[in-house]
Amino acid sequence: SIGNLPQTLGERTKGMETPIQVVLRIRPMNQAELRRGEQSVLHCSGPRTLRVSPLGGGREVAFHFSMVLDGARTQDEVFQGSGVQRLVELALQGFSCTAFTFGQTGSGKTYTLTGPPPQGEGETVPSSLTGLMQRSFACLLDKIQHVGTPITLSASYLEIYNEQVRDLLSRGPHHYLPVRWNKTRGFYVEKLKAVKFGTFEEVMKLLLEGLRRRRSSAHNLNEVSSRSHALFTIHIQCPAVSPSRPKEQTFGKLCFVDLAGSEKVAATRSRGELMLEASNINRSLLALGHCISLLLDPRQKKNHIPYRDSKLTRLLADSLGGSGITLMVACVSPSAQSLPETLNTLRYASRAQRVTTRPMPKGP
Ligand code: ADP
Repeated sequence: SIGNLPQTLGERTKGMETPIQVVLRIRPMNQAELRRGEQSVLHCSGPRTLRVSPLGGGREVAFHFSMVLDGARTQDEVFQGSGVQRLVELALQGFSCTAFTFGQTGSGKTYTLTGPPPQGEGETVPSSLTGLMQRSFACLLDKIQHVGTPITLSASYLEIYNEQVRDLLSRGPHHYLPVRWNKTRGFYVEKLKAVKFGTFEEVMKLLLEGLRRRRSSAHNLNEVSSRSHALFTIHIQCPAVSPSRPKEQTFGKLCFVDLAGSEKVAATRSRGELMLEASNINRSLLALGHCISLLLDPRQKKNHIPYRDSKLTRLLADSLGGSGITLMVACVSPSAQSLPETLNTLRYASRAQRVTTRPMPKGP
């Protein structure tokens, strides 16, 4: 066993300051790294501590997270240890919950969320290798069976590439959708398709349809997971228990975000630099780092965080500093060669876990 749920997620209370939970996952060495005879520079010491020992006698550094999962952990152990099941429960209670993966390209973000890529057309991922998403779908549908009241589920799936939002569940020629804001909904994507589902097979069909569309788009080719962000959201509508108290209706949300590769994006940048580089590097990831820095700045007013600087930060505004509940899975490679990027990811992740939200159940 790999211990309990991350502490704060396990005991959270409505309206209380809740830090973003950060789980670190180290992937196993891949074939190329093994062939080069690379050594691991990352070591778990205890369930929550990572030691980084640079080769050649550099100074050892320690990082602490809600949970540290090494390369020997199976997909099931990652599901059990990440706290995602708790997110599913909270989404059912009407909270807006987000799980996102962060790390350099090739560090295991997509593997963690959806498992290895299918080998051929029509092939499915063996059930032992499915990721956090498939396992959460099954967990959600299982919990709903025991709720007793009829619950309406729907899913939407979008991609942000080059600061343009595209609906991954919509057939035919694609067009880009605008992100709007209003008082009740906060930021939302206009005309984004939300498809109702009731079974595991139905929600899997939506996931696979979106994944296929994501892979096959001409602009993406092999850039698919390295330069685009994908957001899969399940909307959970629970009717009021008593018709005389319609306010009891809840609208929970469970969102999975596969972020673009974090390489070359330093944790802090000034706003000026952000604007200059916007056209050639990933503006959304820069803006995300910038918002995180400002959220940690005690002099910064919380209502002046520049979420509007990118599509991603608009759509994650609530998960970062609002009323949502957020889990980040930081993914790293154990190899010495990846160490500079790994240290970037570890620093980014350490900062993220100092960001807090004030979870409140949401209206429609
Ligand atoms: P990213 O999404 O961060 O770019 P991927 O999830 O595509 O990275 O992982 C890169 C490669 O490593 C893929 O071939 C993937 O199947 C493999 N991989 C990643 N994590 C693991 C793991 N924990 N166990 C086995 N293979 C993994």
